[in-house]
Amino acid sequence: MDDADREAARRELVDALRRRLDVDERTLAAIEAVPRHAFVPEGRRSRAYADRPLPIGHDQTISAPHMVAVMTDLLDVEPGDRVFEIGTGCGYHAAVVAEIVGPGNVYSVEYEPDLAGSARERLRRLGYDVTVCAGDGRTAFSDEAPFDAAYLTCAPTDGVPDQIVDRVRTGGRVVAPVGRAGTQRLVRLTIEEEGVDREDHGGVRFVPMR
Ligand code: SAH
Repeated sequence: MDDADREAARRELVDALRRRLDVDERTLAAIEAVPRHAFVPEGRRSRAYADRPLPIGHDQTISAPHMVAVMTDLLDVEPGDRVFEIGTGCGYHAAVVAEIVGPGNVYSVEYEPDLAGSARERLRRLGYDVTVCAGDGRTAFSDEAPFDAAYLTCAPTDGVPDQIVDRVRTGGRVVAPVGRAGTQRLVRLTIEEEGVDREDHGGVRFVPMR
């Protein structure tokens, strides 16, 4: 596959997502802009534009493109918004969000130091100004709060930890898979003056939060 083939495959993927999902054009444009093949292991590149999750090492996976599209859309961010990601993985989802919010606005934490290091390097090489640190989402980037939005790409079993919800401003949103394997739900929390509004967006399957 050369670059032209990859671009064509990526456009086809986005056309399929457009037919299948009710998501904003801005979200689809972000998916179309990010070279997903550059985020997956060498041997998986020919499968990079299938709408499938793929292994990225250390028993972790890059989410399927439709899931990245749905979560990015639910996040409802605009250029200039500051976003907190928990679970950098290979950095793909962070790059998609960075396409929308712009340089310097995505802060991402990854528990596995090897993945954090390679994602940081990959994002830099591809021209994405995303701040990546190795650590635990419960404590990382507390100095950078408040964020306009946060999302998790790993599933906490008992709901989104308070430490993460507390780092999002009033009016901001948190998108996360929650629950145990087999019964996980995708939820969107909206932080309101009087409390937290919770919407359920269906069953999902993510790696557990550590
Ligand atoms: N968004 C990623 C998907 C990563 S899979 C991508 O586009 O590739 C989820 C990631 O969450 C894994 O890499 C896992 O190591 C990480 N993770 C699990 N528990 C975590 C925690 N407590 N803090 C930060 N990252 C965590």
